[in-house]
Amino acid sequence: METMLQRPPAIIGQREDEVDTPALLLDLDAFEYNLDRMAQLVAGTGVRLRPHAKTHKSPVIAQLQIALGAVGQCVQKVGEAEALVWGGVRDVFVSNEVVGTAKLARFAALAKIANVAICADSDAHVVAIEAAAADATVRVPVYVEIDAGAGRCGIEPGERAALLARRIAQSQHLTFGGLQAYNGSAQHQRRPQERAAAIETAADAVRRTIDALERLDLRCPVVTGGGTGTFEYEIASGVYTEIQPGSYCFMDADYARNLDANGKPVSTFRQSLFVLSTVMSVPRAGTAVLDAGHKAVTIDSGLPLLWQRPELAYVDASDEHGALSYAPDAQAPRLGEKIRLVPGHCDPTVDRHDWYVGVRNGRVECLWPIPARGAMH
Ligand SMILES: *Cc1c(COP(=O)(O)O)cnc(C)c1O
Repeated sequence: METMLQRPPAIIGQREDEVDTPALLLDLDAFEYNLDRMAQLVAGTGVRLRPHAKTHKSPVIAQLQIALGAVGQCVQKVGEAEALVWGGVRDVFVSNEVVGTAKLARFAALAKIANVAICADSDAHVVAIEAAAADATVRVPVYVEIDAGAGRCGIEPGERAALLARRIAQSQHLTFGGLQAYNGSAQHQRRPQERAAAIETAADAVRRTIDALERLDLRCPVVTGGGTGTFEYEIASGVYTEIQPGSYCFMDADYARNLDANGKPVSTFRQSLFVLSTVMSVPRAGTAVLDAGHKAVTIDSGLPLLWQRPELAYVDASDEHGALSYAPDAQAPRLGEKIRLVPGHCDPTVDRHDWYVGVRNGRVECLWPIPARGAMH
């Protein structure tokens, strides 16, 4: 996979302002702070941390999280699972439904060399996973995904979910792994009361399903869910045994709009991920153009923000250009000047890059490849 990568935009030891652009910059102090902070928040709760790797797509970052106590990783795609397992990660949960014989064969092949698990929300999924596991002569845990309130994937909680679990438990090559109960749309509800209420609804759905499982004499080994916006509520619910936050290691402009109980932006984690860009044109007063458009920093959750440059605004993104505007009395950006952008949405922005450029105290300290970049299959 390394042969597919672009050349790194930096060399170790360089100053940050010498890094080629656009580059995906990781502020190592802030990043390490975030990993430590999450480890502290989870410690002593009895709940296990299984971070979501769809954010970072990197076995290096997975291993750092695991060294701080995470039990493994979540992914959405078999290709992401492959990149992690081939990079030495031993425990990977595909927190998603997967359809297609070739994909499931690749998933089952991983079960020979690592602990892997997967989700289902229908009988047809279970039949297909059972066939793939039988072909590979492996036995894999399958989680029942319930609709935890977001109205995306997930079987109806309660009786129907329990019957699906029984079907899994009775399959020769499968074990019932537990319940996947993730509410994605709750993560970016701005007010904490809204996020708490959404997770209360999710926890109720889990409780109803556990009751229905008990009526079928089935034990639920794991209840997993929760992201960066809500994990504290899943921990407090008393029903979740595992959380799966992803964005917390980087953060982004969208998460920066979530509010805490005092109406202030949530400050649990620090912004550690940036896209470094260069001012490539200063065509007229009040306008400057950066070399980072939406091929370098995604705009699905809003335009990027400028880091610690309140006088500048990123106002328009095209493929390879980002237009900045600034007040006539502000100091004009200089041609060639390097500017840090805060991505609107961290996960898809990472997916646009081949390398993390890790910086500390203004110097490049490490270069980490992003082998699961583009791993959408
Ligand atoms: C994206 C995702 C997460 C992590 O969400 P963040 O907002 O990045 O913390 C967790 N679980 C599932 C199933 C996801 O799709």
